[in-house]
Amino acid sequence: MRVILLGPPGAGKGTQAKTMSESLGIVHISSGDLLRDNQERNTELGNTARSYMQQGLLVPDDLIIGMIEERIGRADASGGYVLDGFPRTVEQAQALAAALERRGESIDRVVNIRVSEEELVARLGGRWICRACQRPYHELNSPPENEGECDDCDGELYQREDDASEAVSRRIRVFAEQTAPLIDYYSGASGFVDVDGEGTIDEVRESLLRAVS
Ligand code: ADP
Ligand code: ADP
Ligand code: ZN
Repeated sequence: MRVILLGPPGAGKGTQAKTMSESLGIVHISSGDLLRDNQERNTELGNTARSYMQQGLLVPDDLIIGMIEERIGRADASGGYVLDGFPRTVEQAQALAAALERRGESIDRVVNIRVSEEELVARLGGRWICRACQRPYHELNSPPENEGECDDCDGELYQREDDASEAVSRRIRVFAEQTAPLIDYYSGASGFVDVDGEGTIDEVRESLLRAVS
């Protein structure tokens, strides 16, 4: 099973990809998590990506495409994956299609998660993330049991720099301009599903599981 989760920043992709990958027994591949890991390790990719990410702009396609092709080619991805945050441009989607074709593979589901802009801003403003396992929390909607500490792994929770400041509105605008065209790109194909992302985390999880089963 290969699934793409589409949706604006704050739609719940990371939250849902984590539980979906666990219930389907496939890996969760998040382009944002991979980039932040590269930044922490100070790799060339991480250092190039940093200024784009801080500003809320997309990292250039060729860098992202190379990173994802390498990731989906690893052994643990052979049984399938949930792609979270990639593709984000039509060019990335075309590169993914070409890479899959070379491998004799295809995408089974593209799930578009819809959430209003007002709700996105509220979600991003209260988001906390585990530094160790990247699980997202929200200070009101889904707080951890112990403040500042991950329920799953005791890791330290932090707030992303790009979840404050003008980077938030820029990311939402970048989504509308560069990523929303992907909805058209995929909506004609079989396996495309639209899901309302405004319910509770549990409600959205149920809708998503129905969409992929
Ligand atoms: P969110 O969960 O808020 O949507 P991500 O963690 O997916 O954010 O992405 C954070 C940042 O990383 C983006 O604002 C962008 O700079 C960069 N990024 C992540 N995925 C991609 C991608 N597929 N193409 C280009 N840039 C990306
Ligand atoms: P994305 O990966 O699409 O940027 P996240 O999964 O990180 O989104 O979720 C963004 C924020 O919203 C997090 O703080 C998360 O806890 C919270 N959140 C996710 N889904 C919901 C939901 N259905 N209702 C309320 N808050 C949610
Ligand atoms: Zn954790």
